[in-house]
Parts: sequence; structure tokens; C-alpha cells
Amino acid sequence: MARPVVFSGIQPTGSIHIGNYFGAIKQWVTGQDDAENIFCLVDMHALTVPQDPAALRAQILETATVLLAAGIDPAKSRLFVQSDVREHGELTWYLSCVAAMGQLGRMTQYKEKSEAQRGEVRVGLFAYPLLMAADILLYRTTHVPVGEDQKQHIELTRDLAQRFNAAYGGVFVLPEPAIPAAGARIMGLDDPTKKMSKSVAGSYHAIRVLDPPEQIRKAVMSAQTDSGREIRIDPARPGVTNLLAIYMAASGTSAAEAEAHFAGARGYGDVKKELVDLLVETLRPLRERYAELAADPATVHELLCAGADAVRPIARATADAAKRAMGVGS
Ligand code: ATP
Ligand code: MG
Repeated sequence: MARPVVFSGIQPTGSIHIGNYFGAIKQWVTGQDDAENIFCLVDMHALTVPQDPAALRAQILETATVLLAAGIDPAKSRLFVQSDVREHGELTWYLSCVAAMGQLGRMTQYKEKSEAQRGEVRVGLFAYPLLMAADILLYRTTHVPVGEDQKQHIELTRDLAQRFNAAYGGVFVLPEPAIPAAGARIMGLDDPTKKMSKSVAGSYHAIRVLDPPEQIRKAVMSAQTDSGREIRIDPARPGVTNLLAIYMAASGTSAAEAEAHFAGARGYGDVKKELVDLLVETLRPLRERYAELAADPATVHELLCAGADAVRPIARATADAAKRAMGVGS
């Protein structure tokens, strides 16, 4: 059987947080030996919300450096910047000619993010899932390791691939989402009913993987909880449930093990203190490695160029197959 092809992306929209890490990146790193791996800094997706060009450019480099520091190994995985491979934009157009407006309008992310652009919602924000489908389909991807929030977009990708294949012949491979058992949906510390996100402001909303220990301590200790004391996973108490979810993801424990671990705790304060120590230690190697890699940005840049050079022929072959199937081109 052919080796699985793993593809996933991350937007350079802000500093990487523990939701990105436990929901997606950790799976990318641990699965590297088992598949062909392609990881993408999806900078064209970042343009769907307002960005400062200089800050965006700096964030692309920071994001790439964090991924390498987290353990993405250039000998096993391709790492590249989306806009360096033109076929992403090209295939998006072909897919837009098989997609229906209604399906895009039903996407949760679109509904949430378009609220912030009220009155003047950008076409790019609406079309975002088509670009994401193109990202995935270009590389004949079999598995997409992502957090829970992206499941709907992968279902849409499958649907578009099926529509296209039914109309024009079997060009695309149907990808499967790969969602981790723990950490698939980390919530904001300031509001445990909302997903932790890079693009949400507030100094105690997220824990970023590069945060110094003191910042991690402040963010965790200020995390919103209710007035109860019982340490139990309970949808009616999202604050403590989120702390336990982070604990489970960082410690590799199950829900039952995490609850048993805190059975003797005197209250939420005990959980928070232990979580601070655990997160500081879990993230320490990444932070240290980042400092080393960040001292040599030219090497990171070269690596991104080499990554794009390596994946471009795969993308070109799929885009050509789609073109031929649709009857366009000379
Ligand atoms: P933005 O606010 O700009 O959308 P984001 O934090 O949602 O940023 P993305 O770049 O959109 O991050 O997503 C990168 C990966 O991280 C995806 O696989 C996504 O599913 C995952 N992810 C994002 N937020 C979380 C979260 N809170 N918990 C678990 N996984 C997450
Ligand atoms: Mg997102």
C-alpha cells in the first residue's frame, strides 16, 4: 500500500498557542516517521482578516521557527509558505466553479469571523474553505491532522472532491481528518466558552508556546472558573473542564486519570498551580530550541524555499490533472 500523505497548515496570524500545539502540531511531530509529511504556513489564509504587511512577514518567520523548534524535522517533512506555490490559488478557482454558495455560508468559522467584519465581509473570508480544500487536495493528501474546529472544513473538502470527481473523473484523493483524543479543542482562559485563538486579543486569553514562565503563571492563575470546588469534567462548568483538558493534553492522561489525580485537591487553585509547573516544563525545550534557531533566520528562510521547491511538482501535477479534466488549457 502507498504511504499515507499527511498535510496540514497553520496561519501566521499571531503567536502559536497551546491549542495549536496540542490540537495540531504535536501530532505533526509524532507522526513524521509514518507518512509523507507536508506542512504549510498558510499566509494567503491570513489575508482573509486585516493584517499589517510588515507584521505578517515577521510572523511567517516566527511561525516557521516555532514549528522547527517544536520538532518538525526537515529531513522527514516539507515545510513551506503557501503563497510561494502558485497552484494553491489556481486550484481554488477551479474548486470555486464546483462549490455552491450555500455550503460556504454554512461554515461555522465564516459565521464567527464575519461578525468582526460586519457590514463589509470580504470575499476571501467567505471563500476561505475553497483555498483550504485546494491546499489539501493538491498533495493527494490522505490524512489531515487538525483541531476539532477544522473538521467541518475537511468534510467540505471531501464533498468538493467528490463533486469534482463525479463531474470530471477521479482526479482527487479523499482526505480524512485526524483529530487527537486530547487537546482537540482548548478554550480561551478568559472565556472558556470560546475556542482559544491566535487572532483573539487579550493578554490572558491564550498561553503561547513561547511565553516566559511568569506569563504562563499569570494567565493560568487568572483563568476564569466558577465558584465551585469539585475537580470534575462537566460541560456545565467549562472553566475547570478546560483546565483539566489542558492537563490531560500536557500529561498524556485520560479523563478518569486526570480526575483521580486531582481527587485530593483543595480547590481550583491547586489545579492551576500544578498546571503552571507542567506547562512551563512541557514547553521549556521548545522555548530553548526556538532561541537557538531564531538566531539564524537565513537558514530558516532557505529551508522554506527548499520546501516550496520540493512540493511544487506535486502541486503542478494535480493542478494539470484538474485542468485537463475540466477541459481548459491549450
Ligand atoms: P486564527 O484565530 O487566526 O484562526 P487559530 O488559533 O484558530 O488562529 P489556525 O492557524 O486557524 O489557528 O489553526 C491551526 C491549527 O490549530 C488547526 O489545525 C486548528 O484546528 C488548530 N487549533 C486552533 N485553535 C485550536 C484550539 N483552541 N484547540 C485545539 N486546536 C486548535
Ligand atoms: Mg483558526
